[in-house]
This record gives sequence, structure tokens and C-alpha cells, in this order.
Amino acid sequence: MSTEQTLSIKYAASLPPSFPIIWREEAHYEKARVGRVFNYRRPARFPIAVVEATTEKHIVDTMRLASEIGCRVAVRSGGHSWAVWSVRDDSILIDLGKYHEFDLDDKTNVLKASPSTTGRLLNTLLSARGLMFQSGHCPEVAVGGFLLQGGMGWNCRTWGWSCEKVLAVDVVTADGRQLYCDKSKNRDLYWAARGSGPGFPAVVTRFHLQCIPAYTHMRSSGYIYALKDYRKAFEWAIKITPDFDADTEIVCVGSTPPGMSETHFMVLFVTFKNNDKEARAALQSAQDTAPPGHVVSWFASETSLPLQYDDQHAANPSGHRYAVDNSYIKNDADIVSVMEKAVTTLPSSKSFALWYGMNPCSRRSTANGTFPDMALSMQSDHYFATYAIWEDEKDDSRCQSWIKAIFAEAQVHSEGSYLGDADFQVRPTRFWDTEQGARLMAIRKKYDPQGRIAGYLDAGDKSRTDGLANVHEWEMEKGENGSEAKL
Ligand SMILES: Cc1cc2nc3c(=O)[nH]c(=O)nc-3n(C[C@H](O)[C@H](O)[C@H](O)COP(=O)(O)OP(=O)(O)OC[C@H]3O[C@@H](n4cnc5c(N)ncnc54)[C@H](O)[C@@H]3O)c2cc1C
Repeated sequence: MSTEQTLSIKYAASLPPSFPIIWREEAHYEKARVGRVFNYRRPARFPIAVVEATTEKHIVDTMRLASEIGCRVAVRSGGHSWAVWSVRDDSILIDLGKYHEFDLDDKTNVLKASPSTTGRLLNTLLSARGLMFQSGHCPEVAVGGFLLQGGMGWNCRTWGWSCEKVLAVDVVTADGRQLYCDKSKNRDLYWAARGSGPGFPAVVTRFHLQCIPAYTHMRSSGYIYALKDYRKAFEWAIKITPDFDADTEIVCVGSTPPGMSETHFMVLFVTFKNNDKEARAALQSAQDTAPPGHVVSWFASETSLPLQYDDQHAANPSGHRYAVDNSYIKNDADIVSVMEKAVTTLPSSKSFALWYGMNPCSRRSTANGTFPDMALSMQSDHYFATYAIWEDEKDDSRCQSWIKAIFAEAQVHSEGSYLGDADFQVRPTRFWDTEQGARLMAIRKKYDPQGRIAGYLDAGDKSRTDGLANVHEWEMEKGENGSEAKL
């Protein structure tokens, strides 16, 4: 008899009737394990069981069960972690995909939303009430993983991080307590919920989100250049970003655009306004100053969140294999040169390299009170991320090696990385400023001293209660005195 069969028989009587648990030996286990995982490069990691929670009580009961068995608990909201952090050995996976809540207070525009709510669902429901929330750019990313990491949502460049709109969270702690956390109650957990990412030492059951009025007139302008014009196009985008219209998101992408057969470099502007005149005015300076040579361009074209989600979905197709990495490149680095290799040597026609303009928000600081005090603390003007996308398993090693090589070079120019596009199994680096990183690891130990919640998945899944070292890769390899650095 297998361990899981023995456990399922042993604990059957102690679990409430119809408890939604699927043990490893059962027929639907494989679907429950990875059926909702976005990255088709599925991990060879096997939870003991999966609980498809539909109530908060299911989460509390799973904590108790894990404690009795002596295993860990892993959590899944939308299943969009690139490195598939939700699928862990020696754990019970709590899948929140069937746990739904959407409760809007019409007077305050504060929304209580369950963690598995996706960006598209959130904004479809909110738009019917004239509201929006800065979800992730891809429609199916859920708020659970997205907000815990900080959330690089719509127009992060000037509206700030999406987690800045998290007013409170409800959680179930590792020892099964149900807590409400905000700026005055359980403050440590509230602080950690905005930037700890997959190391959050509790399960979030509800986010309290401040929604904003929806914009009626979204418009986009785009300028697509051949690679020979990469440098002049990118230098232009970098120059105009800091002072560009405050409701406009600016992104540069090296990719093979639809209908083309070669890699091109696109500078894209998406503006959020309430009338056509304002939208055109916002985009006019780009139209007036775009360097000549763009092979395709458009100015102030009508768009909308649903259309933007469709574009993002097309650029990040489901049913594919992915490897990603990213760096916050230092403000004074030569970002154009740092990104050039990625843009010009993409490993497949679906892969892309991206620069997301973060200035002026990246210039805020906690020291002068312009940046909130929260775990998220790492940022720079230049967010550089690269997404290798392919279909065939035989290309795994080639595409993964390519990503690794790109960031082995880029990281020496970086402040650190964003958790959302990182894989700590492949490359350790800095994810928080030093003080915030140390405080976060202490909060984790305080609320989850036994490492019940699976936490950060590093190489070999060894980090446990220690968490991440929050140092660059080269600092890990050699400590200051030349000795091996420790986690
Ligand atoms: C196609 C695509 C597009 C993306 N676009 C963006 C973007 O525009 N901006 C951006 O910032 N990021 C983006 N990301 C990254 C994305 O935000 C992260 O991968 C995020 O973790 C996904 O959240 P999820 O809930 O869907 O994933 P999951 O895999 O379900 O969750 C990831 C991890 O977060 C933790 N977690 C999730 N929910 C909870 C919870 N309720 N309680 C405690 N811990 C929890 C767990 O450790 C879990 O394993 C994108 C990812 C993909 C695949």
C-alpha cells in the first residue's frame, strides 16, 4: 500500500463529510495537480493530495490535516507562476480555483475579492459599475499570486504598484487562525502581503481592494522598427518616458509581430483617458518625436481593457512551454546595450524581450514618504524581462540555457529582480532592499516557525523557514571573505 493510500484511510474519518480532497492515488489527481498550471513545462513534483477548497473552513481544515500528517501546505490561486510554485513535494496543495467571492461596496468602491479572481473577470465585473482595478496585463493571471508579489499592473509607471491598492487581507495562518490584517491590525502580515510573493507565511482568503473609476477612452500608439533601428528607437523611448503623460503606459518589446517573419522592436503607448481629445493630446508628443524609419505605426487607435487582454493572451499563448527571467537594470546603466543581445537573438519566433518604463514611480522613496512602507522595495527605472516560448520538449534545454546566458550577463548591471518573473531554482538574486528582506524573513519565522507553508522554491526546495538569502548570485557563490555564502 502506498503512503498516500495509508494516509487517506487513516484521515478519512477525521475529515468533514465531502471534504474536497484528492489523494495522489485517485483518478483525478493529475488534473488536480497540474490541470490549472499555465506553463506546459510541468514539474516532476508530486503533492501528497490536492484540496479544491470552496470555503474558508476547507483551508483551516487543511492546515490542521497538514499539521497532523507533518507535511507542508502549498497554495494555488490562478496557476500562473512561471516556475509552478504551487506544485511541491511533501505538501498538500490548496487549490483556490473554486473558491469565489466578489463583494463591492458601492459607497467606498472597496472590493472584497477571492484570490483566484482573474484580471479579466475582475475588470469585466467592475466595468459594469464604472470601475477598474490595476490587474496584471494577462487576462488569466489571478490576483492571489500577482498582488502578493507587488503586482506590475496597468500603468504601474505612474499609478504605482497594484499592491498599493490593497487595503487589507484576510488570512488563515500556518496554525489555522483566521486573521484580518490591515495597517492597524496584524500589521506585520499586512506589510508582508504587499511584496513577499510566494513566501507569504499564511494563506490569503480575501483581498480588500480600492478600485478606481474606469477610463472611458483608452487609446494606443505604436511604432515598429526593424532591428537595424533598435538603438535609435529605444534611446528615444527612454528619453521621453520620465516626463511623458501620467496616464500613459510605455513598453518596448523585441518580438516577431503578427504577420512578420523577423524580429522587430516596438515602442507601445497605451493611454487611459475620459475623452478622445485628452487621449490624442497625451499621445501627440510621441507622434511628433518618433524617429523616422518605423515600418508600421498607428496613432491614438481606439482600444479597451478587453482588447488589451486579447493582445496579451495572444502574445502569451496557453499550451506552451515557458522559461522567463528579469532584472531591474540600474538607472545609470546603458540599458540599450544591456538588452541588445536578448532582443537580437530570441530563441524562437514566439519569444520576446520587454522593457517596461517605471520612471517616475521608480524614483519614489520610503525615506521621504513618497513610497509606502511595505515588503516590496526593489525597483529601478528599467524593468527588463525576457520570455522564451516554445512548444516542443526537445527545445527545453536550448531555450532555458538561452535565458540563463542572457541574465548571467545582464545581472551585473542590475539592482535585483521582480519576484513575478523569477525562478529562484535557476538564479538567486536580490528581491528586496536589505532592511525589508531581513524584516520579511523574520516575519515568516514568527508566523510560520515550522515552515508549514511551502514558501520560496529554490534549487532543491531547501530554503524552508530560512527563505531567500536576498543577495546577488555572485555574492551567493563567494561570501565577502571568499567562503561559500549561506542561506
Ligand atoms: C502569461 C502571464 C502574464 C503575466 N503578466 C504579469 C503582469 O502583467 N504583471 C505582473 O506583475 N505579473 C505578471 N505575471 C506574473 C504573475 O503575476 C505571477 O506568476 C503570479 O504568481 C501569478 O499569480 P497566480 O495566482 O495566477 O499564480 P499561482 O501559481 O496560483 O500562485 C503563485 C504563488 O503565489 C502564492 N499564492 C498564490 N495565492 C496565494 C494565496 N491566496 N495565499 C498565499 N499564497 C498564495 C503561492 O506561493 C503560489 O504558489 C504574468 C504571468 C503569466 C504566466
